Amino acid sequence: MSIWPVHPHPHHDELLSSWLVRIAHANGLKVQTFCHLEFDKRYEVWNRDIDRLAPEWLLYTIQTKTGLSREQVLNTTLLTYQQKLYDKYRAAGQLSWITTLQIYHRKRRGHGLQFCPLCLAEDKEPYFRKSWRIALHTFCPKHMILMHDRCPVCGESIAFYRQELGKPKEHQFNPLSTCWQCQFDLSKSIMHKVDVWDELVFSNWQKMLLNLSVKDTQINQETGDHLKIMHHLMTVLFSSRLAPKLHAYLCVQTGQAFQKLEENKTHTSWESHNISERHHALGLCWWLISDYPNRLLNAWTDKAIRYNHMLKDFNDCPESFVKITKFLNRNLNRSLYKS
Ligand SMILES: [Zn+2]
Ligand SMILES: [Zn+2]
Repeated sequence: MSIWPVHPHPHHDELLSSWLVRIAHANGLKVQTFCHLEFDKRYEVWNRDIDRLAPEWLLYTIQTKTGLSREQVLNTTLLTYQQKLYDKYRAAGQLSWITTLQIYHRKRRGHGLQFCPLCLAEDKEPYFRKSWRIALHTFCPKHMILMHDRCPVCGESIAFYRQELGKPKEHQFNPLSTCWQCQFDLSKSIMHKVDVWDELVFSNWQKMLLNLSVKDTQINQETGDHLKIMHHLMTVLFSSRLAPKLHAYLCVQTGQAFQKLEENKTHTSWESHNISERHHALGLCWWLISDYPNRLLNAWTDKAIRYNHMLKDFNDCPESFVKITKFLNRNLNRSLYKS
């Protein structure tokens, strides 16, 4: 196999899907035409989440035809967050902290690909970042504005590879920042400044996001444990069944306006919720685990969270958290004994 005549390298933190569309355009071809020519016709590239699960035939062709190493190609996929955001990669089911696209045929029903309009506006050639698929990434740490998870004009999910579908006569390619449905320039989306209602929460959150967008970033044990605990608390917070009082309690403690979290009927993970709900809930959870474990213990004393919910379905629970809950359990038994 010979190398593609034009084979741009991935930009910093670029997603495989974004890179692949740019390669097609750089070779003067529409995405669908390019993919049909270059990959085995038995396989469809776009009816799957290639950023999460890139099949071998795709990786092999891209690697061979760009002349890059396997590592460089894999670095454009969400596999790179293994041992950082989740312990072990799984092909199916929810991956901790990774947003879902909910692909149905070639459509995306979920709103899992987020974007910062200012980042897109500053790009010489607009592209989509890997870190924009992290559920924690609800604001841009560089511009301190809220991310979008859909076209603000037509409300459709971001699916830049669909742009040229059904337009056989067009030979001009729009930048990736064009909405495939209504052609709105996403880089001109309305900007909302992040409301920094707690300095420490937001500066730590910002640092974490900046860290995660850097290649080869390491997550130490303490940060990893905190992420796991926060992930679990998000699950608890989104479940009205598990801790019905916790949400209202946190709003009172932080002075934040109560924002309803929709009951999740069709999907099970909080990562599938829209960006506004996630942003609201993440701020509350981040506040709760700050000054660790004092605020969490206070929430327990105030009966906003119960001992058994702290551990329920918490499979990758860090040892430090088990210790705290054991301590709570002892106190619980003692107080029961007293009364
Ligand atoms: Zn930005
Ligand atoms: Zn649109």
